[in-house]
Amino acid sequence: MPRVSDDPHDAGETAATTAEAVVDLNAIAHNTRLLRSAAAPAAMMAVVKADGFGHGAAQVAQAALASGATWLGVAHAAEALALRKSGFTAPLLFWLPPPPDAVDAVLAAGIDVSVGSVSGLQAVADAAARTGTVAGVHLKIDSGMSRGGAPAEVWGRLFTWTHQFQDAGLLIARGLWTHLASAEETGSAALHIQMNDFRTAIEAARAIGLSSVILHVANSAAALHTPQARFDLVRPGLSLYGIEPVPGRTFGLRPAMTVRAPVVLTKRVPAGTGVSFGPDYYTSRETTLALVPLGFADGVPRRASNRGEFSIRGVRCRVAGRISMDQVVLDVGDLPVREGDTAVMFGPGAGGEPTVSEWALWGDTTANEVLTRIGPRVTRRYLPL
Ligand SMILES: *Cc1c(COP(=O)(O)O)cnc(C)c1O
Repeated sequence: MPRVSDDPHDAGETAATTAEAVVDLNAIAHNTRLLRSAAAPAAMMAVVKADGFGHGAAQVAQAALASGATWLGVAHAAEALALRKSGFTAPLLFWLPPPPDAVDAVLAAGIDVSVGSVSGLQAVADAAARTGTVAGVHLKIDSGMSRGGAPAEVWGRLFTWTHQFQDAGLLIARGLWTHLASAEETGSAALHIQMNDFRTAIEAARAIGLSSVILHVANSAAALHTPQARFDLVRPGLSLYGIEPVPGRTFGLRPAMTVRAPVVLTKRVPAGTGVSFGPDYYTSRETTLALVPLGFADGVPRRASNRGEFSIRGVRCRVAGRISMDQVVLDVGDLPVREGDTAVMFGPGAGGEPTVSEWALWGDTTANEVLTRIGPRVTRRYLPL
């Protein structure tokens, strides 16, 4: 008996059968090697916060450590503890102030702590004394971003107390660091001021006897194009995932993530058909509409309604109407699209598909936000090393 599903179609074995984010760990490895050699002799901390920018913290950490990174960095204590729980023994730093009840566990797990105030330092020293551990401390300098870190007037006390707690065997001053506000702009006045402030902090720390600390400053943009910011260790995030961090420059990074989903419904409609709550979009001619099960809850920016593009068989297809929570409609024109074909939201771009950076423009946002918002309903699948 013939079956409706016997209709031939050519999407083949590589077709997406569900909304998925395919993460190519070879791209993570390539980017790690590239960053490592660009920043050499500086060592590399792979920044895997926010679940590895949505790629999977453990998978990315493993690929990066296997390819030349020697440190891992995250924002929250809980993220660091989760990595230890997954079995990662590499040096590991998190930089947001920990919840008071997490400090003991952090020290017991041998996780380094960032400290940007004297009270924060005291809390870490107390926890070390209480638990009989030695805390690895990275002193954070506020060099103008005015977000976290110690301002210049606190440096003297912070460094002096660090030295005393170190002498008492409670902590080791492991690092001195800051974060750059606008590392994309080479030669900017802000960058110059931040670098000067940081160098002043280094001198002040040395004067107090804190001399063997690891100096680290550079995020992706600085690691790749600001040699004077590399110091001992660089902390790339975005570039590790293959997004070029400096507008107008390409360094040969490979985007690791492809987000795609099957077309689940197609329909031929006449000119003048209203799509997705009518007022937004009317077809200008007879066309085919294709429904794809990815919406703003999955990370398709709603701001990209009527603007964003997917690709089907390498051909760009515009979003028709509003992006809803669970789905999006594409106007595919006369392209012979069938149910089961794969619609690509973004990927490396080599096959004509949009890139993360294009979605950042369509969604009025940044590449980091596009990547980190890919939601939990989107299945992660890994292309192994
Ligand atoms: C997120 C973050 C990074 C990585 O920055 P990118 O610009 O993504 O490379 C580095 N350091 C700190 C402190 C961060 O919060």
